Amino acid sequence: MNALNVAKFGGTSVADYAAMSNCASVIKGNLDTRLVVISACSGVTNLLVELANGVSQERQQDVLATLSDIHFSILAQLPEAPEVAAAVNGILDEVATLSAIAQTSPSDQITDNLVACGELMSTHIFTHLLNDKGIDAVRIDVRDVLKTDGVFGKAAPDLIETAFHAEAVLSPLFKKHIVVTQGFIGSDAQGNTTTLGRGGSDYSAALLAEAVKATSLEIWTDVPGIYSTDPRVAPAASPIDEISFSEASEMANFGAKILHPATLIPAMRHDIPVFVGSSKAPEKGGTWIRRHAENSPLFRALALRCNQTMVTLTSLNMFHAYGFLAEVFNILAKHKVSVDLITTSEVSVSLTLDQTNTKGGAPKLPEAAEQELAELCKVTVEQDMCLVALIGNHMGESRGSAAKIFGALEDYNLRMICYGASNHNLCFLTSTADSQNVVRALHKELFE
Ligand code: ASP
Ligand code: MG
Repeated sequence: MNALNVAKFGGTSVADYAAMSNCASVIKGNLDTRLVVISACSGVTNLLVELANGVSQERQQDVLATLSDIHFSILAQLPEAPEVAAAVNGILDEVATLSAIAQTSPSDQITDNLVACGELMSTHIFTHLLNDKGIDAVRIDVRDVLKTDGVFGKAAPDLIETAFHAEAVLSPLFKKHIVVTQGFIGSDAQGNTTTLGRGGSDYSAALLAEAVKATSLEIWTDVPGIYSTDPRVAPAASPIDEISFSEASEMANFGAKILHPATLIPAMRHDIPVFVGSSKAPEKGGTWIRRHAENSPLFRALALRCNQTMVTLTSLNMFHAYGFLAEVFNILAKHKVSVDLITTSEVSVSLTLDQTNTKGGAPKLPEAAEQELAELCKVTVEQDMCLVALIGNHMGESRGSAAKIFGALEDYNLRMICYGASNHNLCFLTSTADSQNVVRALHKELFE
């Protein structure tokens, strides 16, 4: 089988001319790279989301000017290319038009059309930069390849259609060129623009890697790989050279911001090793994520995810009754509420809500769902909480590990503890105020 690498560069890696130039060197450094997937330039998606959410006339003008600056200051450092400038200007005009529509008739579809503009612009500029650096790169519009359902803001990929279009559109180009395309966006069966949710470019890259039968996937970001925890929280955090798919996906699921949580699903399906490294410092190495890692330590890493919403449902009717949980989950399913963690006792259930859609923020329990649940039981909703997850291997089979873990947490209140469903994680909720101290205390006890 021929080696075929897909390289993905995140927003900070393509933030400006210097950052983009580092990416060009990274691309030159691996001759197997045929497909390059990039994000919008750093900060651009946030600005576009702001426009989509509605802003004052004045702010709108400011944002449009900032967007123009970000892109044209990169173009200013490249040889003049009227067709690239015209393409970027055309997209900026589109942003202005869509933003005006979003003020009067906002919708998830308008939001997707707006936020897609970030990746559409960055890829024009990046392709031009690669060509300028002597790399034979062509840009394609990923909406011709990555096909999704029609759920704006959080579309799900259509794997069969995507594989079909990848073969037709991408594979012939690989023979001669490096192909540059957009992360994050796709299109539905009618050709409408969709997005995979915030941070979705990693997922795009993995889906495309799967579709083109890649033999490796590189995710280039601004940190040299995966660490035992976020070094900004615990400075003694140490880099991990190699980690298994299961451990890494637990970390991503539990908020280690390094990878979008869905990224590893396609990689696992097709057994594609994933490398995570820093485009600014590729010489520092990074982390390989593979089916099997050579060692599987008892404690691997700590992840922290804030903005948690915890819902507690209490009912005496639950005592020795059947069907209560089924009813609760029916209501949640009816209102399309996705549940993340759950613990139950005899008369109550606590759960946390999942949310990764394009607008971000703490997930809300829809009012209609709350009302319906309230007919069944007492409903309490609490916010301002964080989830701390300890990732490891067979923690339940090792004597003394619970004492070590909970011993380190003597001084803190833990709200909800989950362990057992997966061999790889133990997690609990704490107040936002305590959360970083909890991570530091555990890191010190278990990793230093
Ligand atoms: N540009 C998108 C975002 O900021 C997707 C990505 O960068 O992964 O969410
Ligand atoms: Mg990202």
